Amino acid sequence: MPSDRSPASSSPLHCDLLVIGSGAGGLSAAVTAARLGLSVVVAEKQARLGGTTAWSGGWMWIPRNPLAVEAGIQEPLEEPLGYLRHELGERFDEARARAYLENGPRMIEFFRTRTALRFIDGNAIPDFHGRSPHAREGGRSVCAAPFDGRRLGARMADLEPPLPETTLWGMGIASGAELRHYINALRSPASFAYVARRVLALARDRLLHGRSMRLVNGNALAGALLASAAEAGVDLRTRSPASRLLTREGAEGVGVSGAVLETPQGPLEVHARHGVLLACGGFPHDPERKKALLPHDPTGQCHWSAAARGNTGDGLRLGEAAGAPVSHDLVQAAALAPVSRVPRTDGSLCHFPHLIDRAKPGLIAVRSDGLRFVNEAESYHDFMQALLRATPAGETAQAWLVCDHAFIRRYGLGAAKPAPFSLRPWLRNGYLRRGRSLAQLAAACGIDAAALERTVARYNAQAQGGRDEDFAKGETPYNRMQGDAAYARERGWPNPCMAPLQRGPFYAVQVVPGSLGTFAGLRTDAHARVLDAQGVPIAGLYASGADQSSVMGGNYPSGGITLGPAMTFGFIAAHHAAGMSPSL
Ligand SMILES: Cc1cc2nc3c(=O)[nH]c(=O)nc-3n(C[C@H](O)[C@H](O)[C@H](O)COP(=O)(O)OP(=O)(O)OC[C@H]3O[C@@H](n4cnc5c(N)ncnc54)[C@H](O)[C@@H]3O)c2cc1C
Repeated sequence: MPSDRSPASSSPLHCDLLVIGSGAGGLSAAVTAARLGLSVVVAEKQARLGGTTAWSGGWMWIPRNPLAVEAGIQEPLEEPLGYLRHELGERFDEARARAYLENGPRMIEFFRTRTALRFIDGNAIPDFHGRSPHAREGGRSVCAAPFDGRRLGARMADLEPPLPETTLWGMGIASGAELRHYINALRSPASFAYVARRVLALARDRLLHGRSMRLVNGNALAGALLASAAEAGVDLRTRSPASRLLTREGAEGVGVSGAVLETPQGPLEVHARHGVLLACGGFPHDPERKKALLPHDPTGQCHWSAAARGNTGDGLRLGEAAGAPVSHDLVQAAALAPVSRVPRTDGSLCHFPHLIDRAKPGLIAVRSDGLRFVNEAESYHDFMQALLRATPAGETAQAWLVCDHAFIRRYGLGAAKPAPFSLRPWLRNGYLRRGRSLAQLAAACGIDAAALERTVARYNAQAQGGRDEDFAKGETPYNRMQGDAAYARERGWPNPCMAPLQRGPFYAVQVVPGSLGTFAGLRTDAHARVLDAQGVPIAGLYASGADQSSVMGGNYPSGGITLGPAMTFGFIAAHHAAGMSPSL
């Protein structure tokens, strides 16, 4: 381990806990530690706080959470533990899994009673793999409740706004009932009235505050955590990347005692009496680590993660310099997702993750051979794994999401929004391809036309009967929840995820390998302490969020399995640093 090197320029700062990174993994620990009485500094590399968390859906997989229990959903710990044991197979680490499942409900109770963060339940949200033993159809997740940005006051300017492509004129749309109102706005007077109210509120917010003040999803999570951190007296520093860790000899040998931050005023040493927590969001934009850990990205340039751009693997390198290895034996090193590349007017590309549209009735995914390769309604991670399996060696992994005119006007496609928004800009910039017939669309995309026509004819016949004989689409509770049961019923389609692609013009968008973040990280124990190559905790060093090797071992059993552990292990680490045990 390198020793404490030359002092930084300004006089050092002292605190109890130094948190590096301001997403869920960092702020959960910071808020908890401050509420437990520690003095806390948060160092954030970017100009704004919140990281990928502020762009996310805000869902957390927390089985046996208090909101589910209050709704009468009770299950013993052995149930979700059994689900994880089955899903994780050889990567199941019982000590960490138990720590996560035991402390998740405590974390929710702590935040909802002692901070500004509130939750809404996910009691109708099924696990991804409904056929696995101990899977549940709901009651295992929570999401951050909408948060009023005005509570942040001037701090609102420090919060990373949501990804523009996922908003309506900068206003986030909450998943679930709210999203349904937006989809149905042109067909249901109640939905129209709902959307009209929201748009009026947005106009007022923009006039008074310059942006939407109604924060939802991950932006509400990051906003509420930021407000809670500020209220608890956390010292929040933006534009202050940590560049190296400081170490000292202690009773337990050499341990981590702080870090150097590269602040706008120059390097700053921060000495942390109780430890340092790494929460820099993993390596989604670190070409070298991607080359090493993502087999589909041998150049480090063909994985288009939707995660925040500041997440360049700093935490992992800091950990390695302190003697901690990065896990390289996970089932998948990243939380995979199909993304489309959205050209922006400033010349940059948004990596848009397709999380919702794939399961709606009337969309198929094909490769350039014109053949389907997957149940499109499966999770983003499973979709991508199927694409990687279907792609012959030496070929670039890519696919097309194909739909007809009725579909795109009802649901939109990727970043292209539904009616009444115009499709013209998306056709002009090449994001969307269009053809009057399937053959024309195939020509526009470089897909085998005859094969595509045969695929669609077969799919349409199956959609009329409601049964996907090739990939069993719509057969799990998760598939069906992601579909559109009410609309399918209305149109006489027996399967909520399947509708015939009938009338042109037809549309397609290309999807390529991407991710919501990364899974491989620093190995930790059940207290979130970082382990060295011998499996011994490095004194004073913790990791949470994507810097911590995923407790799921590179599997993706349910939505919310990155934010759930990020929040929970942040909470656990803070208690350990404070010398306390979490309790209900
Ligand atoms: C569109 C989208 C939707 C998603 N929805 C969900 C969901 O609903 N549920 C779920 O579980 N997961 C979801 N995810 C994944 C989830 O958002 C991430 O896994 C999670 O936010 C990671 O949290 P984190 O704290 O590790 O990292 P982040 O939230 O990314 O925060 C890391 C922070 O560290 C900062 N940083 C980096 N290097 C340094 C340095 N050297 N010094 C100081 N700071 C540094 C970064 O700038 C960043 O602000 C979603 C992801 C995306 C893209």
